[in-house]
Amino acid sequence: MSVLNKKTVEDLDVAGKKVLVRCDFNVKMENGVITSDKRVVAALPTVKYLIEHNARVILCSHLGRPKGQVNPEFSMKPVAQCLSKYLGQEVKLADDVVGESAHALADSLKDGEVMLLENVRFEAGETKNDPELSKSFASLAELYVNDAFGSAHRAHSSTAGVADYLPSAVGYLMQTEIDVMGKALENPVRPFVAILGGAKVSDKIGVIENLIDKCDTLIIGGGMAYTFFAALGHTVGTSICETDKIDLAKELMAKAEAKGVKFLIPVDNRVGLEYKPDTEHKVVDSDDIPDGWMGLDIGAKTEALFSEAIKNAKTVVWNGPMGVSEWENFASGTIAVAKAVAEATDNGAVSIIGGGDSAAAVKKLGFSDKMTHISTGGGASLEFLEGKELPGIACIDEK
Ligand code: ADP
Ligand code: MG
Repeated sequence: MSVLNKKTVEDLDVAGKKVLVRCDFNVKMENGVITSDKRVVAALPTVKYLIEHNARVILCSHLGRPKGQVNPEFSMKPVAQCLSKYLGQEVKLADDVVGESAHALADSLKDGEVMLLENVRFEAGETKNDPELSKSFASLAELYVNDAFGSAHRAHSSTAGVADYLPSAVGYLMQTEIDVMGKALENPVRPFVAILGGAKVSDKIGVIENLIDKCDTLIIGGGMAYTFFAALGHTVGTSICETDKIDLAKELMAKAEAKGVKFLIPVDNRVGLEYKPDTEHKVVDSDDIPDGWMGLDIGAKTEALFSEAIKNAKTVVWNGPMGVSEWENFASGTIAVAKAVAEATDNGAVSIIGGGDSAAAVKKLGFSDKMTHISTGGGASLEFLEGKELPGIACIDEK
């Protein structure tokens, strides 16, 4: 099954219809105030399309973890206000999720008007994908649009179950994620370079296995490299190393070789004495990590090696920083790789950044505008890269 064949909002006849739209308004909040409204902004194209096409728009999302109980601390009120501001029209907030207030407001909507349901996770059935709740969501509207990519890996009532009872489509945000990542994985322009890093091999087994089948070059950096070093018989000092994954690392390297995938791991490393931002540090070769030192970034020779391999790529998928890039002393490798990916992108490559920490690192280091696509879904993008079927996408009607 291809994810590239899903109905989009433009395939629906929305005029005069009540359209339930699942968004990802799980915004960052502090003391009841939104500290980053980028998720609201990301939802605007779909909402505006629906307004312009005279739909009656019923938005919904989760916010935080109210754990199935009504809790004013997690009310969508700030989101309704934020939406009103961006849309330049009132977005009414229902007092409940699928209760009397929601129904009354939905039935009173005129063409082009917008309302917001209360936090879907006020309902205990939401995270259980309870069919009764799914039916209740469906009873509010005539059409369903899922635009919550960040929640697409969850089979919940508002992200998946509801689609059993209404004609459905994906919104623009979801469509972009599917188009860019789906094309890269299903039909990549070659050479395809996959760059994997981050803390642990165990977090990324699925991603490595899926990408090994598709890419031409596999680059491994970050903390996970040290498990591969151990598999090669190197000592790793106090570096993060998963001894129970050493055999797996050997298998993965054998698989890469059997498939003719070029496999690159660091040849040198910036090691530190302690896991601290200002710890004493130096660069050593990969077969020469001294006792008591831990690898916290790739070294300069590795930066050059990786950059050379990335420069001529036509498809780049990158998940996982090359080191502890949160700390200035250990950010150099991630910056070098980001520069190489930016250069490849300048030369026509499609570059995709997946994973929450990776997206944050690329943004913080100032490379946001240089990449083709930074996925908005942390966990969802990882599962996508693992080749898993995401319930929030799978549930949507095909064209
Ligand atoms: P993502 O969220 O993008 O999938 P991960 O969570 O797998 O990425 O990896 C990010 C984390 O990995 C960061 O917090 C970073 O500090 C850590 N990390 C990277 N390299 C190392 C290393 N050599 N030792 C310890 N931690 C590392
Ligand atoms: Mg992470």
